[in-house]
Amino acid sequence: MRIRSKAFYEKAIKAIPGGVNSPVRACKAVKSDPVFFEKGEGAYLIDVDGNRYIDYVCSWGPLILGHAHPEIIANVYFASKKGTSFGAPTWQEVELAEFIKSCVPSIEKVRLVNSGTEATMSAIRLARAYTKRKKIVKFEGCYHGHVDSLLVKAGSGLATFGIPASPGVPEELTAHTLNLPYNDFEKVEEAFKQYGEEIAAVIVEPVPANMGVIPPKEGFLQFLREITQKYGALLIFDEVITGFRLGLSGAQGFYGITPDLTCLGKIIGGGLPVGAYGGKAEIMDMVAPEGPVYQAGTLSGNPIAVAAGLATLKELAKPGTYEKLEALASKLEEGIKEALKDLDLPYRVHRIASMLTLFFTDKEVINFETALSSDTEKFAIFWQKMLEKGIYLPPSQFEAWFVSLAHGEEEIENTVEAVYKVLKKMHKD
Ligand SMILES: *Cc1c(COP(=O)(O)O)cnc(C)c1O
Repeated sequence: MRIRSKAFYEKAIKAIPGGVNSPVRACKAVKSDPVFFEKGEGAYLIDVDGNRYIDYVCSWGPLILGHAHPEIIANVYFASKKGTSFGAPTWQEVELAEFIKSCVPSIEKVRLVNSGTEATMSAIRLARAYTKRKKIVKFEGCYHGHVDSLLVKAGSGLATFGIPASPGVPEELTAHTLNLPYNDFEKVEEAFKQYGEEIAAVIVEPVPANMGVIPPKEGFLQFLREITQKYGALLIFDEVITGFRLGLSGAQGFYGITPDLTCLGKIIGGGLPVGAYGGKAEIMDMVAPEGPVYQAGTLSGNPIAVAAGLATLKELAKPGTYEKLEALASKLEEGIKEALKDLDLPYRVHRIASMLTLFFTDKEVINFETALSSDTEKFAIFWQKMLEKGIYLPPSQFEAWFVSLAHGEEEIENTVEAVYKVLKKMHKD
């Protein structure tokens, strides 16, 4: 029973639009009311009614160490005792910047901001300034935060509500955005043939996770690298999810591609608000005060957020962490695949590193359009029944499930068992 959750939600909708501070939390896509949470412990969430869930949302990616990791708590505590914000430089910001640089070789200089949205917005501005061009290529179903010019066919939140773009974004602001299908070599080639001299940058989630997890086709990222180079455009990897998720060097290390600019967020804040954008020094040196491209932030590089981020990255840099994540996530993938096989269900499981999506479709999923072939009604029922079994999944078909280092064999086994039972029951009914 979620009596208190319901009561809080009823209050919330009177004070906050939709009762939530970010749309997908509302659980409308899974025809449910949101669960209000009291606390997190490792791989578990406890709601305000005292129910316990194994958590695969993990705050939508940042919590790769799980909830309330003792190192993060300690670092946040000691940082906050020294003061919550100075509006002046601290040495810890430098340490975080150096740490990021040492892990992600394409980043020679990095600027800290407060969110992934700020990072992509700033990277786009910088790319336009550097190339003196206007057009941006993005891919359908890739989400880059709620930046005006990028809010076109932008993945889960919008897919969930069937809004192609957002009211309040003038056409003039998206007029320079070319929206192409992901994994489509030809469409990219055509776009460059037609507009090559006008394209400032291609921005891409190297592994899209905001339309469900979709791996890049063999050679696709390399192709983007080559064609941008050929036409003098920049390649921007939006690694807000994949950064420090696919390994210390992110998707660029995983696939061996060097982008010009990289956007980070989520994990580098360890659950506090942080984003970052960085890349070649020559490009980054155009950012104020070194250069003319303005970008600023009252709380950018906030000492408490930086402390949480540093603690997270230092834990991740310990030997064996990514191997452990891989083993756990692979066990989850194999378990779900076995359940599907046993029950003779045609659904698709996609996994890259510790991100996974179960698509309720029998079609091959390679881009946004094919992802939309998923049966979202079925997913809604699945989500509800999983919740009743104590598993908290992202409340949308078009999202990634995140495995953290706090998950263990037992949690994975319990999850697989729940998936099997729920699918079996759905199948019979
Ligand atoms: C979450 C996300 C963003 C936006 O980050 P916020 O911190 O929510 O503004 C941008 N790009 C990608 C790929 C993301 O997953």
